[in-house]
Amino acid sequence: MVFWFQSTDAQREAMFREIFAAELPHVPIETEVTDPDSVRYMFSWQPPADLSVYRNLEVLFAVSAGVDQFAHLPAHVPLIRMVDPSNLRRVAEYIVMSCFACARDLPRYVAQQQAGDWQARTPAMAADTTVGILGLGEIGQLSAELLRPLGFKVAGWSRSQKTVEGVTCLSGPEGLTELLAISDVVVCLLPLTEATRGLMDASFFAAMKPGAGLVHAGRGAQCDFAALKAALESGHVANAVVDVFDVEPLPEGHMAWTLPNCIVTPHVAGRLDPRQGAINIVTNIRRHEAGEPLLWQVDRAAGY
Ligand code: NDP
Repeated sequence: MVFWFQSTDAQREAMFREIFAAELPHVPIETEVTDPDSVRYMFSWQPPADLSVYRNLEVLFAVSAGVDQFAHLPAHVPLIRMVDPSNLRRVAEYIVMSCFACARDLPRYVAQQQAGDWQARTPAMAADTTVGILGLGEIGQLSAELLRPLGFKVAGWSRSQKTVEGVTCLSGPEGLTELLAISDVVVCLLPLTEATRGLMDASFFAAMKPGAGLVHAGRGAQCDFAALKAALESGHVANAVVDVFDVEPLPEGHMAWTLPNCIVTPHVAGRLDPRQGAINIVTNIRRHEAGEPLLWQVDRAAGY
């Protein structure tokens, strides 16, 4: 019975080994697996293509908060996403930074700097800016909590109707249309599911308020990058900060590298804290061994 640790991050591995040795000495960590039947727990960012060969797999732990890459996991195996409070905060801080960047037109000033072009525009203030957050989950709500005291007006869109203090909460297709029409900055923090794949297409961008900005930190496959390029080129979408891509690492020659008025970051809005990751997993393995309900278990039917 082993815990299969799939990661090339040496610091993360050392931390997991230290914490498992102290807390779960009966669960050995392996990084290379020769006998698929020995695997009881798996920790993975990109799992093997055929998970059905791990017949004794009891729980799969995702490295990430988003779990779209595990859709092929057999339905009876519990899937646990990573919910790390320090990482939630890290992503929410990225959102705050990017909302200011869009509101103050920073992506365009970066392009102007590269062109040696001195052109000043009247800077917007947070109080003039409505941020519309797609996905009012853990990260969306924390982002709203950080944005509001800075003066931003915040709206949010979710699958089920929510009530969040100080946030205009919307849901359903009409809710999306309304959010896009009122937002000066649209932030995507949605999980990738069949319902959200390709959501940001030409009609989505056309429904945005003219001159609004986009912050995309959900998952790359939610965005049609050719449509985003056209929207940025026309100026209908004024600027963007994008952290996630349909192919990662973003290959040389991908159009996202050269999107106009767009700042690209290499999927760094969040990063798992290795200690917290190991503690989360130890907590859940203990619960699993005691027959207790697991924490942060993904609803496989909803896909997140
Ligand atoms: P949660 O599961 O806590 O929240 C997801 C939110 O999205 C919920 O409000 C949910 O609605 C809403 N949602 C899901 N499907 C739909 C839909 N079809 N229509 C409308 N709303 C929908 O997730 P987190 O906040 O923890 O994380 C969100 C995503 O952020 C992750 O899945 C991942 O893709 C991305 N992420 C990116 C990182 C990065 O480094 N760039 C780091 C971490 C996360 P409801 O409340 O009704 O369920």
